[in-house]
Amino acid sequence: MIDTHIHGDARSGEDFKEMYLSGIDAAVTCAFYPYKIDNETVLLNHLMRILNYDTKRAKEHGLDLKVALGIHPANADTNSELIYENIYRWIENKDIVAIGEIGLEDLTENEYAVFKRQLDIADETKTNVIIHTPRKNKKEVLDEILNILPEHISPEYVVIDHINPNVVENVISTDYTLGLTVQPQKMDKYEAISILDEYGFDKFLLNSDISNKESDPLSVPKTVRELAKQGFNQKDIDKIAFKNAEKFFKF
Ligand SMILES: [Zn+2]
Repeated sequence: MIDTHIHGDARSGEDFKEMYLSGIDAAVTCAFYPYKIDNETVLLNHLMRILNYDTKRAKEHGLDLKVALGIHPANADTNSELIYENIYRWIENKDIVAIGEIGLEDLTENEYAVFKRQLDIADETKTNVIIHTPRKNKKEVLDEILNILPEHISPEYVVIDHINPNVVENVISTDYTLGLTVQPQKMDKYEAISILDEYGFDKFLLNSDISNKESDPLSVPKTVRELAKQGFNQKDIDKIAFKNAEKFFKF
């Protein structure tokens, strides 16, 4: 199985071990610093730590951590040029499988500028992006994101994440890949399964988004097992468990 969106830097080795023993082979760990950053070298250090340190910690427990780096909207208030330079370098070195997570949160001017610039870099370098949608004002922010995307990036590179039953209708007919996050306080496995049952398995990736907030490191295997228990077709289950992720991220 592949967990397509986690924050490994906020989690323990025990979590990695449990994930691995529960059948998760690989996970995509994304950038997000939960405390205010007012200096770009501190942000760069956070990103380098994910790339060089957390991947190693995960490996010690068997988990293959793929890396997405970029400027999360909550961290958009520094001078970002230093980070953009490094994003180009990481892409060239094949250090990262996506720019992410990026997106909009409070719709500030800085957020818009940083989001658009990272989309442009992704499109120019043919790199995937993982796009965050917030808990609050999800519909409003998603509409903003959907307005911006066509001017900046080809849909084949885009996953819009944290899609839930309230907004799935807004994106289901687009060409974007869609992320389902099964997490306490966000969406439970039954809601995720009802989306898959209604809209099919082809467009979706599955993840836990484990972070410093309340999380369940095993939400991907729990959802996959529940699908099997409910008698869904194994071919469909494989798509959401790993095949769609392998195809999108080109693992
Ligand atoms: Zn996240």
